[in-house]
Amino acid sequence: MYWTKIFIPTLRDIPQEADTVSHQLMLRAGLIRMHMAGVYIFLPLGLRVLNKIEAIIRQEMNAAGASELLLPALQSRDLWIRSGRDKDIGEVMIRFSDRRGRNICLGPTHEEVVTDLVKSFVSSYKHLPLLLYQIQTKFRDEIRPRFGLIRGCEFIMKDCYSFDRDEAGLEKNYQAMYEAYGKIMKRCGLKFYAVEADSGVMGGKVSHEFMAPAPSGEDIILACEHCGIARPYKEGAQESCAKCGEALKKTNTIEVGHIFKLGTKYSVALEANFVDSDNNPKPVIMGCYGIGVSRLMPTVIEQNNDANGILWPEEICPFKVIILPLDVTADTIWSEAQFLYNELARRGIEVLLDDRDERAGVKFKDADLTGIPFQIIIGKEYRNKNLVELKNRRTNEKISGTPQAVLEKL
Ligand code: ATP
Ligand code: MG
Repeated sequence: MYWTKIFIPTLRDIPQEADTVSHQLMLRAGLIRMHMAGVYIFLPLGLRVLNKIEAIIRQEMNAAGASELLLPALQSRDLWIRSGRDKDIGEVMIRFSDRRGRNICLGPTHEEVVTDLVKSFVSSYKHLPLLLYQIQTKFRDEIRPRFGLIRGCEFIMKDCYSFDRDEAGLEKNYQAMYEAYGKIMKRCGLKFYAVEADSGVMGGKVSHEFMAPAPSGEDIILACEHCGIARPYKEGAQESCAKCGEALKKTNTIEVGHIFKLGTKYSVALEANFVDSDNNPKPVIMGCYGIGVSRLMPTVIEQNNDANGILWPEEICPFKVIILPLDVTADTIWSEAQFLYNELARRGIEVLLDDRDERAGVKFKDADLTGIPFQIIIGKEYRNKNLVELKNRRTNEKISGTPQAVLEKL
């Protein structure tokens, strides 16, 4: 991809509305733009990262035995009245009626819709278990949308739902999701703690939140850096780790995922029953498992940045390499840039070529800001000695070599 073709509107100054490091960097690096408070546009670079995060989530969900479907964002509010949550969820849900006078809402989550779906064709224990997920846009009229994608009114969630005949089945699916979540966070380059938590408006008994440490995080946990164990912080005395005795540390975190054992709350309310092998009708036993897909991106940035910009973990970087020909009007430099670009592309390495006729300083600043892991600089040394420079964005390590040597290194 060429810089001038892809549309990367980087910003020199810190936008006024940006209230966290990740929000500032996402706006400055040309990943997102605000449409209105709490509602964002994904620009091409941001969308590339989002697509990579989604691909990781899909791989791990499929590997855990879940099947993908896509539920509607427009939902029948009558279902929410029947589940009792129309009241509980309050003003967070966006409601309206259409020209036929139907009661509609924009889905803030999908327990009702998916339970109603499963009810329509599960009648016997032979139809269970079921594990279904989607990656989809959710709508929540948050009281205070802020921190960019961290708390939006429209955001992307991966939500998965399990349906079992008994507690043992639920336990198995819950464990599979717990493990898949760990793999997803690791692959996205996130440090996290799994914290046993309150189930809130979802109902049910057991739940774990996946909490990523970040200075701007609003949820405080007590974490043992040694064992990786953590629990929600409640006012009170200093505590120590039950496993190793080390002092627990108060840590600000962002919730990136949440898994719940729902039990029969929704199946009872919406009459999703099946006939078990003993011929008795029983409500289906459910679990639900969410990841804030679009929240994950700024959370990764909160944990991976320096004074000059973003430091993308390799699995979710928008491009792996950026080529910086420092003078595109010099024929030799420009043709070497194109040669390297074609060679990298041929090897399946995602590469961006900064083909702008801009000063070197502008190119360096933008390359650092966008956080692409490797930079190939074609400048003075190329003129004199045919050498290019390879810079590792994270470690700042630079090596100079022939174009061929740099290709081998990558
Ligand atoms: P929070 O406590 O942050 O408001 P929640 O507990 O209401 O979140 P869940 O219903 O558990 O959220 O949704 C699953 C996941 O969706 C959350 O773990 C979070 O990562 C993400 N999420 C929730 N609300 C938002 C939002 N307004 N903007 C972006 N992501 C969100
Ligand atoms: Mg939650």
